[in-house]
Amino acid sequence: TAQTFERIEATEPNVEAFLALNKDHALKRAEKLDNIGIAEGNVLAGIPIGIKDNIVTKEMPTTAASKILENFMSVYDATVVDKVNEAGLISVGKLNMDEFAMGGSTETSYYKKTKNAWDQTKVPGGSSGGSAAAVAAGQVPVSLGSDTGGSIRQPAAFNGIVGMKPTYGRISRYGLIAFSSSLDQIGPMTRTVKDNALVLNAISGHDVKDSTSAQLEVPDFTSTINDGVKGMKIAVPKEYFGEGVNPEVVAAVKEAIKTYEKLGAIVEEVSLPHTKYGVAAYYIIASAEASSNLQRFDGIRYGYRSPEAKNLEEVYVKSRSEGFGEEVKRRIMLGTFSLSAGSYDAYFRKAGKARTLMIQDFDKVFADYDLIMAPTTPTVAFGLGENIDDPITMYMSDVLTIPTNMAGLPGMSIPCGFSQGLPVGLQIIGQPFGEAQMYKAAYAFE
Ligand code: GLN
Repeated sequence: TAQTFERIEATEPNVEAFLALNKDHALKRAEKLDNIGIAEGNVLAGIPIGIKDNIVTKEMPTTAASKILENFMSVYDATVVDKVNEAGLISVGKLNMDEFAMGGSTETSYYKKTKNAWDQTKVPGGSSGGSAAAVAAGQVPVSLGSDTGGSIRQPAAFNGIVGMKPTYGRISRYGLIAFSSSLDQIGPMTRTVKDNALVLNAISGHDVKDSTSAQLEVPDFTSTINDGVKGMKIAVPKEYFGEGVNPEVVAAVKEAIKTYEKLGAIVEEVSLPHTKYGVAAYYIIASAEASSNLQRFDGIRYGYRSPEAKNLEEVYVKSRSEGFGEEVKRRIMLGTFSLSAGSYDAYFRKAGKARTLMIQDFDKVFADYDLIMAPTTPTVAFGLGENIDDPITMYMSDVLTIPTNMAGLPGMSIPCGFSQGLPVGLQIIGQPFGEAQMYKAAYAFE
């Protein structure tokens, strides 16, 4: 643990992944573990982990990278934090992200700009950019991220690591600061597939504090990891290789899929025809839910209160105007608009219908196939500052990850090659609660 902090201190000026460190508590916990000894089979005990800053922790501030939560201390730990502690992992710090997880480059953080671990002029992706860069830069072997429309998989792809967004309901969201409650899911980010499966084992399961967490037995995700892909049926959706997807990314992913054929999998092309509605429907649904979830930041209950406010109305307006960043305000306005009486039918209800069509697309494919494979992102990591003033281009970087969230399916990204010296991610999409199958495939490739 002491070495971990040395490594973080040495690399942090280049990476800028952390918003807070937990040195005193972490060293104490490590010492305690040394004294009591580690139970046999407890492979995660003593392993350092970084936590995305939208997951609440008692020992460190939780800001969601927003000014409105500057120095905010939670009075309780998120369920995943409890589980991480029970497994003996040691939380070393909180990781940078896009403000309230809204963004695809970690540049909407109020605090700092995290760099891609491979090239300091590139973004680390987002919104879990700190979680991805910290793992890729060797600061921690494991981190937790959250994924609403691609925020674990896109930064994992941009940094060449393994990122898993589990099935909606696999992991408790209790203590995850809500962005879009019907889409959000926490997941592990690691260097290797096996580490990822081990961490998912530790953090999964039903939680009475989250009614959307599934009442299902959690399998040991490592027990079948070695079984190989012989006879596995893999679907390759043609819409994920279309216009806007960089040819070098396509080439690297197709090469990876060929490897699966060589390993004995059956690979066939399929169609997910409603993919094209994903981004538009997502930004309506996610923003609508966000506008509701963010009402609690009112200058009274949590965090920042404007010192200028002279009456109650001004407490709300000024605290929120000064506390939220531009992208967050854009989402709140979009969400409030699409939920308003005059536009509900034209926007919010329509987006819900598009979502249903996308779910049906997946159902049809999964009637015949075990897994879907495709690129994680249309391009490799882009330059810092390149897309920050162009929200639409930024939104398009999640075009290949959003459909999975809309359907609640598990999706992961594993490194599969390079383009322009930067990592390319292979996306593996599984059946509901089919994470074990995904790990099997990911492990066979690694
Ligand atoms: N980039 C997407 C957005 O800005 C997804 C973010 C996420 O998954 N948290 O909404």
